[in-house]
Amino acid sequence: MNIHEYQAKAVLQPFGVSLSKGIAILNASEAEEAAKQLAGPVWVVKSQIHAGGRGKGKFKEASAGDKGGVRLARSIDEVKQFAQEMLGATLVTLQTGPAGKQVHRLYIEEGSEIDKEFYLSLLVDRSTSRVSFVVSTEGGMNIEDVAHDTPEKIVSFSVDPATGIMPHHGRTVAKALGLTGDLAKQAEKLATQLYTAFIAKDMEMLEINPLVLTKQGELRCLDAKMSFDSNSLYRHPDIVALRDTTEEDAKEIEASKYDLAYIALDGTIGCMVNGAGLAMATLDIIKLYGESPANFLDVGGGASEEKVTAAFKIITADPNVKGILVNIFGGIMKCDVIARGVLAAVKAVGLSVPLVVRLEGTNVEEGKKIIRESGLNVLPADDLDDAAQKIVNAVKKVA
Ligand code: GDP
Ligand code: MN
Repeated sequence: MNIHEYQAKAVLQPFGVSLSKGIAILNASEAEEAAKQLAGPVWVVKSQIHAGGRGKGKFKEASAGDKGGVRLARSIDEVKQFAQEMLGATLVTLQTGPAGKQVHRLYIEEGSEIDKEFYLSLLVDRSTSRVSFVVSTEGGMNIEDVAHDTPEKIVSFSVDPATGIMPHHGRTVAKALGLTGDLAKQAEKLATQLYTAFIAKDMEMLEINPLVLTKQGELRCLDAKMSFDSNSLYRHPDIVALRDTTEEDAKEIEASKYDLAYIALDGTIGCMVNGAGLAMATLDIIKLYGESPANFLDVGGGASEEKVTAAFKIITADPNVKGILVNIFGGIMKCDVIARGVLAAVKAVGLSVPLVVRLEGTNVEEGKKIIRESGLNVLPADDLDDAAQKIVNAVKKVA
């Protein structure tokens, strides 16, 4: 789950992290009052959307001006003007995709005088099963570009969970940023604060880009991007309360109501699969045969008829879906039960695109028989390879 920058900063505040003072607003009418409560003479007016690259982003509407989604205002009047221009407008950045995202909230901050910009992030590194730090002197830039162009400028290390964060980790951060003396001490303290917050809140990713050195000699987090492990949300009601569903894909929200692991993709073949590994393999093989999946969907091991129906509704509601591939390995679930579920779903929601069903595992013959004798226009498949080719061919024929 992702949250907005201003929320991420509020999460970090109790851990002592150095931040600019700021106020979030929903209406342009609140801009003046917010700016007055903050010290000038410079304010930063920041679009709050769940995507980075806002500074270099562009609004679709000409009325929003061409100054990007993060703007320096030199007067309270300018804060008001920017708020009026940006609220309600659609911001397109490298991370939003061409459709962009509508700005519903702004964060107004006291402006910082920047001497240097750095990059600092923490993430769960699955290869080491540890939390890793990624640190670079190249702040304010897209870290993927830095990794590509100047990989030697990125320092990365992981923290042993048995010891937790240690003073030497902080010293590594300071050294990577070329900081000495008091600034090194600030970097060490910050590393500890961020790591402590990361663990306490079960974060998946925390990116501070840029971390800045101000002209006054203070290290400060100017931006914060934060995401959480969805499996841990049950123990963080304070974080769940920060969820902004207007930023999420409507199909994904619907899927989460049924506890379906669903991720919208931009291809044409809707997929219904049980098990994350099989789902990944299904996406790969669709690609192999020259089409693209419209979604990732793991209905889980114990998919009920209700769940299968809900999954079908979500897949068929996607206008990009030109064909559906159901790929189920009946283990705990039996194939005949799944076949009945699929048929019930098709009967309930209708079917206007080709459907290929591949079943394997317990009671597979019975399952196939049910599909065969259903009278519905379902193409049965023998194995994953056969299934992928059949649905790709069917979709190509329609197109
Ligand atoms: P992003 O583009 O979505 O990553 O948004 P950021 O919060 O990182 O802001 C973009 C850029 O605006 C930063 O890299 C800074 O260069 C600049 N910026 C943000 N806050 C301030 C500030 O307080 N003072 C100054 N001078 N620049 C800022
Ligand atoms: Mn940033």
